[in-house]
Amino acid sequence: MAKARPGRKKLKSGGCPGLTSGHKAATPLLLINIRQLLTLRAGSAPRRGRELAELSIIEDGAVLCEAGRIVAVGKTRDALRDSWLKGKRKRVREIDCRGKVVLPGFVDSHTHPVFTAPRLVDFEKRTAGASYEEIAAAGGGIRWSVEGVRRASREELAQHVLAALEGMAAQGTTTVEAKSGYGLSTEAELKSLLAVRDAAAHWPGTVVATLLGAHVVPREHLRHPEKYVREVCELMIPQAAQQKLAEFVDVFCDRGAFSPEHAQSVLQAATDNGLGTRAHVCQLSPCTLAPLLASKPASFDHLDFVSDEDVERLSRSQTVATLVPGANYFLGLERYPPARRLIESGAAVALATDYNPGTSPTTSMPFILSLACTHLKMSPAEAISAATINGACALLRQNSKGSIEPGKDADLAVFDVADYREIAYWFGMNRCWTTVIGGELREHK
Ligand SMILES: [Zn+2]
Repeated sequence: MAKARPGRKKLKSGGCPGLTSGHKAATPLLLINIRQLLTLRAGSAPRRGRELAELSIIEDGAVLCEAGRIVAVGKTRDALRDSWLKGKRKRVREIDCRGKVVLPGFVDSHTHPVFTAPRLVDFEKRTAGASYEEIAAAGGGIRWSVEGVRRASREELAQHVLAALEGMAAQGTTTVEAKSGYGLSTEAELKSLLAVRDAAAHWPGTVVATLLGAHVVPREHLRHPEKYVREVCELMIPQAAQQKLAEFVDVFCDRGAFSPEHAQSVLQAATDNGLGTRAHVCQLSPCTLAPLLASKPASFDHLDFVSDEDVERLSRSQTVATLVPGANYFLGLERYPPARRLIESGAAVALATDYNPGTSPTTSMPFILSLACTHLKMSPAEAISAATINGACALLRQNSKGSIEPGKDADLAVFDVADYREIAYWFGMNRCWTTVIGGELREHK
């Protein structure tokens, strides 16, 4: 088996009622008899072009985890012959994964979990034919969710975030990016980020927080959006950075949200305050990406209306193209983001849920994989790479997440399927058997 020295990283404590760990963190965990072990080892990160379909599968595989890290990966027969293991077998917890598929835990690199209620009126209006923009103009949409978040306590918001994280882990997700964005005032945005931090402390997985103060212009600033942009740049971003509440700053640059000029100011303020950048772009209308690329964003998300010139630009950049087809599905759109064009040009494509109450109320990465295959025409193998190693790149976590290799964090998803393609094949049902986070086994069905 390929090995590394066991990591010295201290395990984060679980302590969350929904995610009880089945053994003490110090106990090494050995998964054996894995029918297909999808390692996604080596290769360049992010994966581009043909590399996206390379999963580096080991049949009858085994993975050994200790102290939160993966320490060895290989065939089961080699693992059982290993002298280290023979000496310690009694104190190793063994999990028989016969007939199952093991892959890196999903990295859901785009979610909006800080909200209080579903948007059922919008949902119903849409079934009667109203569009996303018509609903927003009539007082629904993002601004409707703002009322609830401003009224809610930090504790209440944290409970909602934690419930979402638990739902994600139950479907194989172990790393989550979580945005604020329904507060739209310095106070309510910082409260949202504190709620993300509180929820993350009770969840064993990894949470990467993003400030999305520039989601839309709040009602009270509609006449003078530049005043709000100034608040985002001069108050929200510096305070979030000082309090270490966010790693990234995001901006929604589109018709009905922020102009490219305002978006540039927001991203520049992020850079000036030492934060990373990412942006929602080309969801509702085309926009030019060149000026926004100046801040070297970790990711551009949506990209439904991306131009050929910008696809070319993306293929030459380190910025990941994150596709969120759950939003197209839920809005009942015929148009989906141009995954094939992006992949064939050499852009680094990732997939995420875009979990949010208005356009993508799902915590399920397997469902997003299904959409990627049926609507974006990605192969199941491409979809898996996009949801693991490339998602990790979109969060700048490629050195610790997204593949099963010695030295990386022991974050794994175990699916009760005989072939990895089934992960994207079944939809509307959960085939995730268990999740391993930081070397700890989540109780399974
Ligand atoms: Zn979004």
